[in-house]
Amino acid sequence: MKVAGIVLAAGRGTRIGADKNKMLLNLANKTPLELTLQSCREATCLDEVVLVCKDSEREQMREIADAIFPEGEVILASGGATRQDSAYSGILAASPDCDILAVLDGARCFTTPELIENCVRSCIEHGSGVAGCWCTDTVKLADAEGCFLRTLDRNRLVLVETPQVFPREILKLAYEKAREDGFLGTDDSSLVERLGLHPRLVVSGGNNFKLTHPKDIVRGTQEVLGVRDLRIGQGYDIHALKEGRPFLLAGVRIESSLGLDGHSDADVLAHAVIDALLGAAGQRDIGEFFPDTDPAYRGADSMKLLEQVWAMLQAEGYALVNLDTTIFLEKPKLSPYKRKIIHSLAKALGAEQRSISVKAKTAEQFDAVGEGLACAASATCLMTKQKQS
Ligand code: MG
Repeated sequence: MKVAGIVLAAGRGTRIGADKNKMLLNLANKTPLELTLQSCREATCLDEVVLVCKDSEREQMREIADAIFPEGEVILASGGATRQDSAYSGILAASPDCDILAVLDGARCFTTPELIENCVRSCIEHGSGVAGCWCTDTVKLADAEGCFLRTLDRNRLVLVETPQVFPREILKLAYEKAREDGFLGTDDSSLVERLGLHPRLVVSGGNNFKLTHPKDIVRGTQEVLGVRDLRIGQGYDIHALKEGRPFLLAGVRIESSLGLDGHSDADVLAHAVIDALLGAAGQRDIGEFFPDTDPAYRGADSMKLLEQVWAMLQAEGYALVNLDTTIFLEKPKLSPYKRKIIHSLAKALGAEQRSISVKAKTAEQFDAVGEGLACAASATCLMTKQKQS
């Protein structure tokens, strides 16, 4: 049994709002074309791959295909004006000894190798395999003005996707009959149905979406990055000002006759940042990690503690999106130190400086900060949790 995958990649980027073929968009440094071809590569059931593309993009696509299939076994075919023309061109380009053809929309770039295999297996066992999912929304038939004519039974409605897999002879016949009849369908199974056959659903599992609208670029990028969820965290700390103590903010020494009092180096900003990070991760707070009753932390370098906490969170799959901080201090003015503080935090977190913000405020002579007795800091961070590899 020889199986060919036919990847349709000759579309335009009109609906998605791109100025180029959406197969060549950048999703976190991956093109949809690479993702689709990679799935074809990993699907153990495909013996050959036909890539249907526009003649003007042939060279560029050949290069991408060769990088994924270094043995150069991808066959290129010329795309036509419609999806149907392109698919037919791919059908004709597949090796004549192929028994089964699997048509894939290239823009459905999160099709998994397993789904390709399931559709091919369904074709071997039942004569066809079409990816899709049962409809969960209520669907109405409406007139051109949007007035409902009737409600369809959603228990009988399927949203079809690709791969759509058929025996080569049947698919070829279906395409030729459609051509003869002047019938234009939006998928392969609608042409096969016209032969009086009943293609069979293979449930896809929900993430087999097609890049269609601009918002799909964001969703696709998140998929590539493996972003699972966004986590927000906040931290706050305050330390008394006292003579004879060091005054450190994120490890940056502030010139002052007073310093911050505490068990560790009392770096109030580092402490607020640590609590924000731990909070976003749903962890215990800084006091539980580094108790001020533990002699090990007497005079501790708080930036080292920050690095330690961040290494632990990174190991759990967290990445920083941005960090926003505010320091509350009556004097001295912190503006000369802000760049240094940002630099120090960026270094400790392995982050870009533009993702970190440091603001300073006085308390207008109110409360302990305003009376010059204390310095406080607050921090808010946004983190993403990545897929664990
Ligand atoms: Mg503290």
